[in-house]
Amino acid sequence: MILILVPNTRSDSPEYKQLFNHLVNLAGITTRVHTEVGSEQTLTEIYLIGNTKALSLDEIKNLPCVESVVRISEEYRILGRHQNDERSTSFVYNDVVFGQDTLNVFAGLCAVDTLEHVEIMMRTLQENGQVCTRMGAYKPRTSPYAFQGHGKTCLPYVFDLAGKYGIKVIAMEITHEIHLDEIRTALHQTGNPTGIMLQIGTRNTQNFELLKIVGRQQEFPVLIKRGFGITLDESLNAAEYLASEGNRKVVFGLRGMKTNMGDPHRNFVDFAHVPVVKRLTRMPVCIDPSHSVGTRAASPDGILDVMHVTAQGIIAGANMVLVDFHPVPSKALVDGPQALLLKELPLFLEDIQIARDAYLKRTELIKRYQD
Ligand code: PEP
Ligand code: MN
Repeated sequence: MILILVPNTRSDSPEYKQLFNHLVNLAGITTRVHTEVGSEQTLTEIYLIGNTKALSLDEIKNLPCVESVVRISEEYRILGRHQNDERSTSFVYNDVVFGQDTLNVFAGLCAVDTLEHVEIMMRTLQENGQVCTRMGAYKPRTSPYAFQGHGKTCLPYVFDLAGKYGIKVIAMEITHEIHLDEIRTALHQTGNPTGIMLQIGTRNTQNFELLKIVGRQQEFPVLIKRGFGITLDESLNAAEYLASEGNRKVVFGLRGMKTNMGDPHRNFVDFAHVPVVKRLTRMPVCIDPSHSVGTRAASPDGILDVMHVTAQGIIAGANMVLVDFHPVPSKALVDGPQALLLKELPLFLEDIQIARDAYLKRTELIKRYQD
């Protein structure tokens, strides 16, 4: 059971003490407090853990400081959607809103290779009105002999250039806790010119110790990719690890499943799960068409498969698109064959808008039929 307190309730107020006195006397129940400090208000949630079945919802609702009460099912206690659950489905990070009703595009380099390519990419994003990007510095590679990413050495110029071109959020995968410190240090040294959304890649979805460490910090939001060979439920539980450690700013990413049934695509595209994740949880849902499709193949209509699946995800309500672009794909050190060209960015964005408008129209239509 979750008790959502009246905003800005102070933990030193007499009412709060009265509430706590009541809660500690409930037999077989322990409490866990979570505070979310926002720019306008501080929200406090108290989780009652144990046998809460016997508790009366009305009685708890009438305790001091309590604004509302949610009875939670076992699944995804913090990130899940429960009955009468009106907790927020969005968060703000570095002035950018991420939610189940918004759409953010993160076009960028799969892997940072040269300063020049980073600069060309970011300039193009700015020219196209974009404030988010993806930039891989730490690359988990199948072969130990393949390029592993420039790591911390590229961070200062990536962050400086992001500041120069007005990039507010960079999605960046980390594979080890030390990367978190390296990112923090580089941001500090460059004067915090940008924000970072930490990415947990599909190979680390069930790296529980990494999840706990990333979940314990609330400075950076997290994009967690679905594990490529595990069930959706297992991946959603992995996301819940982040939240259970304290970080609620979590986006869930679909990137296709590893099976030959998806051939000739690199992975079997799973964007039919966009509405499923939105139904089961309060997380915004990201799609990664590049790592799903893995090629620049186009259909006879001339549209690239990467663009087709992007539209499919967006028309189903996706909230974020993580997509590989490169100024010279033939020179990319990672995943060049799936990268879109910079001249395709305006086309890609316009195509996305068509799908987004269609999605919004579909939600209007269903509302008309429900009324
Ligand atoms: C990536 O986004 O660069 C990446 C490696 O993705 P995934 O973890 O989905 O393979
Ligand atoms: Mn890649």
